[in-house]
Amino acid sequence: MRIVPVKTPTVVKKLLPDYIWEVSTTDKVIYLTFDDGPTPEITNWTLNTLKEYNAQATFFCIGNNIKKYPEIFHNILDQDHAIGNHSNTHLKGWQTNKKEYVSDIQNCQNIINSEIEGRNLTEPKMFRPPYGQIKPKQGKALLELNYKIIMWNVLSFDWDNSINPETCLNNVTAKTEPGSIIVFHDSLKASKNLKYTLPKILEYFGKKGYSFKSLNI
Ligand SMILES: [Zn+2]
Repeated sequence: MRIVPVKTPTVVKKLLPDYIWEVSTTDKVIYLTFDDGPTPEITNWTLNTLKEYNAQATFFCIGNNIKKYPEIFHNILDQDHAIGNHSNTHLKGWQTNKKEYVSDIQNCQNIINSEIEGRNLTEPKMFRPPYGQIKPKQGKALLELNYKIIMWNVLSFDWDNSINPETCLNNVTAKTEPGSIIVFHDSLKASKNLKYTLPKILEYFGKKGYSFKSLNI
């Protein structure tokens, strides 16, 4: 049985009201997010696919990956997508002490800031916890440092290779509504499901009159 649901239950959102789970709107807008990049091939493929459909999105990047692939990170910026912080080394919050956790996130932030220098961008301060794991004390410390903690209300399960691409697509089409924040991954692990699902999502919701925007929180 799957422990984490595709759709985030209301009770979870109510328990953690300081985190952002969705955007409150009745407009037909969807917020696609991509975690774990930049990744060679996958991120550029994602960028090209989004461009084909005139879609904007948000990329929660890992600091170490930005360092390894700065040119791919700049491709994201060149297409005006939003950037978020996904920590420097993809730590599990529940197994990490507050000091180490916050410092890993600050390290990623420093890398982001040095890469965006000269681009005339406001410092992006959106953070998504790797694995969705964050302890209350860690969350509090990050909120005090003015980070916005961005969770989701729809998980595609694209990283889970035990599900087939059709299920991944179905997870998203069945649960998305106006203002949904949807989690995908521009990672190698997720690429089989992502490459099948993303164009279909863009097509399906585009035909229904939805637009795809980057988070600006
Ligand atoms: Zn991640």
